[in-house]
Amino acid sequence: MIDSIFDDKPEIAEECGIFGIHCKGEDVSKLTFFGIFSLQHRGQESAGIAATDDGKTIKLHREMGLVTQIFREEILQELTGHAAIAHTRYSTNGASVARNIQPMVTHTEKFGEIAMAHNGDLVNADEVREVLKKKGAEFESTSDSEVIMKIIECSDADNIIDAITEVVNTIKGGFAVVLLVGDKVYAFRDPMGIRPLSLATMGDDNFVVASETCAFNTIGAKYVREVNPGEILCLDENGARSTRATPKKEEAALCCFEYVYIARPDSNLYDVSVHAARRRMGAELAKEYPVDADIVFPIPHTGTPAAIGLAQESKIPYMEAVIKNYYIHRTFIEPTQQLRELGVRMKLSPLTESLRGKRVIMVDDSIVRGTTIGPTIKMIRDAGAAEVHVRIASPPLPFPCFYGIDTASRKELIAARMSVEEIRQYIGADSLGFLSLEGLLKAIGVGHDKLCCACLDGKYPIEINKEMREKKYLFDEDVKGK
Ligand code: SF4
Repeated sequence: MIDSIFDDKPEIAEECGIFGIHCKGEDVSKLTFFGIFSLQHRGQESAGIAATDDGKTIKLHREMGLVTQIFREEILQELTGHAAIAHTRYSTNGASVARNIQPMVTHTEKFGEIAMAHNGDLVNADEVREVLKKKGAEFESTSDSEVIMKIIECSDADNIIDAITEVVNTIKGGFAVVLLVGDKVYAFRDPMGIRPLSLATMGDDNFVVASETCAFNTIGAKYVREVNPGEILCLDENGARSTRATPKKEEAALCCFEYVYIARPDSNLYDVSVHAARRRMGAELAKEYPVDADIVFPIPHTGTPAAIGLAQESKIPYMEAVIKNYYIHRTFIEPTQQLRELGVRMKLSPLTESLRGKRVIMVDDSIVRGTTIGPTIKMIRDAGAAEVHVRIASPPLPFPCFYGIDTASRKELIAARMSVEEIRQYIGADSLGFLSLEGLLKAIGVGHDKLCCACLDGKYPIEINKEMREKKYLFDEDVKGK
């Protein structure tokens, strides 16, 4: 995915990363730092850690910025404790301002001080907020996370498991949550398992949860399993204990875009390697759209595994042909028109010797708004490519997401407005092939009954009310229901 550095938002904005750890008698601040650092790709706006050593006081540090900028040695020394939760944030819902940074901490009468970090978006936050206001709740932020906190604060339940059960049965949407209550860490997931969350162990009775398994590799934890949809886990000095907030369902709806773009390639989801799934997406693309060409190259870095898979399947040489400047993050510098046109070149630079006179296959993971792929193709042609064939490792994306991934509104999505041939002409490619949904499912190796593919096929696994849909220009006739 090629994001313009001058867009206010990237093409697909990652969501958030969450992490929770309980290690008996050990200080976990540095492990928490490394855990959340390995989830940096899921959100680069802000990050925070909440830790406790006595179960009575929560130490909190959170700031705008990247994990390594925020957590210096002296700050980690203040965050000592054997239980901690952490968060790295991209704001899909709620403004990108300091008061919305997570973890959030609040004082409750029944459970004392609690901290929470949350990943995902709720589809009924406004309704729940109104109900809670009538019960006397006062809101300080605009984020969904505060809605979850207030349900716990206002709950009549006299134990935290019942209060969490009330949360899971009240809110609707995609969510994965970690809570620090007393000296225990709680972790839970929405009943369809839309947002990912996994469990690992660090020796006897010490447990860790994280949005992605790559965090376990970084801190030397051993993967155990995924947190089940609708399950509540409690991590404490006795190990990890499980309760159910909702009855177990046969079907689930893990976000398929985790495999396409969001998750780090060294993570596993449903025990499937994300890197291997992306390579298979490329192999499927080669079968679906064969073409004579001299080289295959990726848009780095999310297009790389698919390009490798396509090259292996088609027996066309794989080559690097564009170099990415990894130091570009979101910028708020107001660009001039000339700079806007140069924007793609600031992020990607062509390798002329790879491209000159060649018929090339350019592989990317997805096209969302389609604003930057045209200038990229022009850059490839200007560098001397004779033909540019574009292959996309996911189907066209004509529907917006309501469950925590910022994919823009329906009117901004190029596939909602144009056919594949119209997109090809618009971006100036010699040929264009999007992987079919069947090809994507085959590459992932998981059935549609276990995945959400709503932004691709309009079959939303959790109903979205009319008001919310219309905010993203999704109307009655577009909705199919899963
Ligand atoms: S709608 Fe798309 S991006 Fe959103 S959860 Fe479903 S598959 Fe993921």
